[in-house]
Amino acid sequence: MLVYNTQTHKKEELVPIEPGKIRMYVCGPTVYDQIHIGNARTFLAFDVIRRYLMYKGYQVTFAQNLTDVDDKIINRANETGRTAAEVAEECSNAFIEQMHRFGVLDPDIRPRATHEIEAMQEMIVRLIDAGHAYPVPSGDVYFSVRSDTSYGILSGRDLDQMRAGERVGVNDEKRDPFDFALWKAAKPGEPSWPSPWGDGRPGWHTECCAMIHRYLGTPIDIHGGGADLVFPHHENETAQAMCAWDTALANTWMHTGMLRVDGEKMSKSLGNFYTLKEVLDKYPAGAVRLLMLQTHYRAPLDFSFERLEGVAGTLERLQTCARNLRWAAERSPQDGELNDADRALGRAIDAAREEFCGQMDDDFNTAGGLAAIFSLVTACNTYLAEAADDTSTAVCLRAADMLGELAAVMGIELSRSAGDDDLPVALVDLAREHAGYEGDSASDAADALLAARQEARAAKNWGVADAIRDGITVLGLVVEDTAAGARLHRKE
Ligand code: AMP
Ligand code: ZN
Repeated sequence: MLVYNTQTHKKEELVPIEPGKIRMYVCGPTVYDQIHIGNARTFLAFDVIRRYLMYKGYQVTFAQNLTDVDDKIINRANETGRTAAEVAEECSNAFIEQMHRFGVLDPDIRPRATHEIEAMQEMIVRLIDAGHAYPVPSGDVYFSVRSDTSYGILSGRDLDQMRAGERVGVNDEKRDPFDFALWKAAKPGEPSWPSPWGDGRPGWHTECCAMIHRYLGTPIDIHGGGADLVFPHHENETAQAMCAWDTALANTWMHTGMLRVDGEKMSKSLGNFYTLKEVLDKYPAGAVRLLMLQTHYRAPLDFSFERLEGVAGTLERLQTCARNLRWAAERSPQDGELNDADRALGRAIDAAREEFCGQMDDDFNTAGGLAAIFSLVTACNTYLAEAADDTSTAVCLRAADMLGELAAVMGIELSRSAGDDDLPVALVDLAREHAGYEGDSASDAADALLAARQEARAAKNWGVADAIRDGITVLGLVVEDTAAGARLHRKE
């Protein structure tokens, strides 16, 4: 399995540190607001990477932090008259809620910066003792980038060249303009914790490094985040690990491309800024996933509502195919010998899985993986149309299961039932009135209504046929005619 490593600029064979196990960490959000769809793109990419590693049989341990103390949180608290802890708590809960809606698996470990002060201070003490960090009179502690001979190893930046080209903030207390704060002295009114250097709070780059060391051990197999984190955040993380414990922080560094809206950078000032919440309020999570996964995780992703509209139909096609297969399986007579068409679909199922894995083994090529899923959809639709009512139950079920299995790696849930899972109970009353139905199951009522409608049409009893159709429409349902017969489902 090949994975692109930012540090070496090439695809490398993934060789786990411990056979069969992968330890991975993805930098989490700073919790001061709802996350936007750019953040969501990154979290989705690593969700699918994790799911695929699990699908391949690895035992994956996944950690992701919540940055719950930061200037942005403190500013938001001051603007809204709340404490920083209140803002962080509310936004952490909102983040977790939206991740659940999006179908992103919970991390195995979710450390919060404010709960890890001790681990961070221990690391800072080690760095000071080894001569890689220094406290200054104001109470800040800085990491000395010059003390780390490998500084720049991840991003490929050279401190001397950057000096010439870039303006960096001037701070008299720093020995070098690129030195960064491991610990920040408390300003009045800010959250703070006691430390050997006076009251203060940790710097952002400090937290991930200390958490990784504490919860996963260093080095880990995979460290990920958006491409905007390569420098300085991840460069600074790996520098601390090298200097504190003499190990790299991660063997493989993975970075996602940035999300753009309508070809432009997404930003509040351009008015093309969308939160994940507002997008999920309007579109199914599966459609947003499909759109994002059509682009390779390392490439920039162009988001537009136009594309999303189109993809919603693609998702429907996948779901309908799986339902049709299960429907056909329920309706088909007992299996006899498999015929040529059955065997051809059987081969298409195996080929789709092989193609899917081949694509995903190549640096998680989700676009290729999706193409493999949809080539199976096409094969299934052709089979269902041509076989009409002579389908094989076993082959239909195997095809539906394979679609479900591969879609699940993409985090897309397909229904395991032949019909709509949530037909309204009001169908029961309608069927009692028009179809002499006496039970209380919505799906049986749907079958009874469709049979009664069919009978009424055959008898040219248009009044009854129309009354049934109108009643169905009022409930927000449509009649779908499939090769294996008519059935009801919810209008999208
Ligand atoms: P932040 O809360 O800003 O630290 O961001 C959380 C994660 O989202 C980080 O991994 C960022 O790299 C990532 N991220 C931020 N903006 C974008 C974007 N426009 N596209 C993709 N990922 C992003
Ligand atoms: Zn981080």
